[in-house]
Amino acid sequence: MQPDNLINSLGRDLKQRFGHKVHKLTIDADFTCPNRDGSLGLGGCTFCNNASFSSKTNTQLSIRDQLETSKPGMRAKKYLAYFQAYTNTYAEVAVLKQMYEEALEVTDIVGLCVGTRPDCVPDSALQLLAEYQQQGAEVWLELGLQSAFDSTLERINRGHGFAAYQDAVRRAHQYGLKVCTHLIIGLPGELPEQSLITLERVLEEGCEGLKLHPLHIVRGSQMARQWKQGEIQALEMDDYIRTAGEMIRRTPWEVVLHRVTATARRPTLLAPDWCDNRWPSYMGIQDYLQQHGGQASALGRPSLIQTA
Ligand code: SF4
Repeated sequence: MQPDNLINSLGRDLKQRFGHKVHKLTIDADFTCPNRDGSLGLGGCTFCNNASFSSKTNTQLSIRDQLETSKPGMRAKKYLAYFQAYTNTYAEVAVLKQMYEEALEVTDIVGLCVGTRPDCVPDSALQLLAEYQQQGAEVWLELGLQSAFDSTLERINRGHGFAAYQDAVRRAHQYGLKVCTHLIIGLPGELPEQSLITLERVLEEGCEGLKLHPLHIVRGSQMARQWKQGEIQALEMDDYIRTAGEMIRRTPWEVVLHRVTATARRPTLLAPDWCDNRWPSYMGIQDYLQQHGGQASALGRPSLIQTA
């Protein structure tokens, strides 16, 4: 099977619908997060150091300038503005409106991807996003869930449980919005079986997109200390490939995979070593799917994963 037919990727999905390449351009709009500013907590999620995934640390640049300076070399005709860093619905709706519209007004921007927490999506923000969608913009609400297990969410100090995710998805769907759910593989205390159960619960709730991510241990996070003290271990690449591969095989074809692996930049990344390069794990997943079947091929079949 051709690699393009193994996964219903976001690139593939957008190309089919728009007729040409559409790329995401990342924005850091200088938001904060209720799990960091004291509203919910101060320490944040134990894995979190936004500097590891935010490609734009210069938030002195306007949203427009961040988008314009990211375009060259992208080889796409159209773009989605991806509000990535921190919690991008965490402001008064008037402020959100100003930021989102600054992005939408940039030439060749055809939509928004808005990353946020499930407990931070008031109806006013959903309604605003739904209005852009009704006007023809491509809109994705990206919800960080990471795990469907409340025990794990508590352990990593998320500050919300699975019920908050269920509520956010239900309301987003009432507004007709597409939801992309972010999941982390390799969280402390979780075996591959838990990742499969998380996937099952997420699919039961219904979502239009998924983003899979290996656990990164990054400088400045609480997990960095736990890892240095030997309290948690870094994920092996082979384990990630098998788990992500099985999750993809259990994902219905119509669910769009926004990402199946992720990198972090050194020196922020401490472990695992293989996470500083996207390609080995990406190619490993492609090989796994070639051997065992692509997206949706294992629906209704027993797990290939051996759990300890
Ligand atoms: S991962 Fe997201 S929700 Fe958690 S502390 Fe970091 S910005 Fe906040």
